[in-house]
Order: sequence, then C-alpha cells, then structure tokens
Amino acid sequence: MRIAKEQLILYHADHQAAGETESFSTGSVSRGSASTGTAVCEQLATMLTELGFIGKPLPQFGSHLYQTGEAFFDHLVYLGCSPVVHFAGDAEADEPPPTCVAIDAGTKLVYGSNTVAPRCGHCKNALHGWTESLHAAEHEPAVVCSHCMTPAALSSLNWRKRAALGSSFVKVHGVFPHEAVPGETLLTRLQALTGDAWRYSYVQQPVVIALDEI
Ligand SMILES: [Zn+2]
Repeated sequence: MRIAKEQLILYHADHQAAGETESFSTGSVSRGSASTGTAVCEQLATMLTELGFIGKPLPQFGSHLYQTGEAFFDHLVYLGCSPVVHFAGDAEADEPPPTCVAIDAGTKLVYGSNTVAPRCGHCKNALHGWTESLHAAEHEPAVVCSHCMTPAALSSLNWRKRAALGSSFVKVHGVFPHEAVPGETLLTRLQALTGDAWRYSYVQQPVVIALDEI
C-alpha cells in the first residue's frame, strides 16, 4: 500500500509510567504479546470512533487503518489558513485516502528523514550514527555515544518532536511537520485511557524499529 510520507504521531510511552505493566483501564492487559496489542488497538479504535476522530475502517489497506471521522477537525487543529486535507474516503479506491488514521501498538521507535540526531546527555555531542549503535541494553534499548562512549537509553534522549518512542500509537497520515496539533479533548481522552499523558511528534518518510526485536 501507499504509505503516507508524512505523519503526525500521537504516542504513549509506557516507560513514563512506574513499573512495567501496561496501565490500560481494563487492568486486564499486560504488555508484550500480539493479543495485547490487538486489545490496545481495539480500545483506542472504540474511543476514537466515539469521538468521531476516525470513521470507517479500511481493512483492505491494513489492519487498524481508518478513514477520518466526521469530527476529525474538532480534534486536530490545523495551523495554516488553508490546509490541504484529502480525507474523502472512497471505499472502492485502490489506495487509502492521503489523510487517514492508523492505530498501532507494541514497543517501537518511529523516526524519519526529518529526525535530527539527539544529543548525548553526558558530553552534549550529537549522536550521529545512533541507528548503527542501537542495541539492547540490560533493561531497554540504548545507543552509545561515539565521542564519550557513554551509553544512553533511548527513552532518555530528547527527540524534539521528530521521532516517536512508545508502546501505543495513533498515526495521522498526511500531516506535514507542525501543520496541525492535536486538540485538548483528544489528548485528555487518550490520557484517560492509558493513565498518563500522550505526546506527539512529526515524522516524514517514517521508519519503524520494533524494539521488542532488537
Ligand atoms: Zn557523549
């Protein structure tokens, strides 16, 4: 399928929460399995449908991919005066609409062509080549600074809204960097579902690293 080259990614990082367990309100899910990921996606889909943020599913283009909903613009605030939003959803089309919403779960880092190398927290040099030094450290993925050789956990780095490190994701395809921001109601509802705050980033030409697999 055609993957949108630019995305606004809302994400929840479960390492923000104390402890290792997923904090979804049902209390019945634990992280790390495919069924858990499906349950998380279903909960998010139900909530986002209630909000009118997402509309019909587009299963022919991927699981948990949706048309924009009738209240999409209530929850995503475009900052320009005339955004180009193609959200017409033709169910018979060969490609998904350029503006659509994907839901995803599982511990992942999504970065892109616009991602700038984060800085080492120790010597402050840019961590150029961080993708090559990415490895599984004792408790979580880390990179090693090529200047001072200090390892840094991925979650400790400041990606400056240009990458998303999380375990649950709502990806709005077709949004250019800083073209739009999520509304308060959307952020509040996402937080209510997971127990802690969601963040958002803008990624172009996204590359996904499944952190459970490194
Ligand atoms: Zn360093």
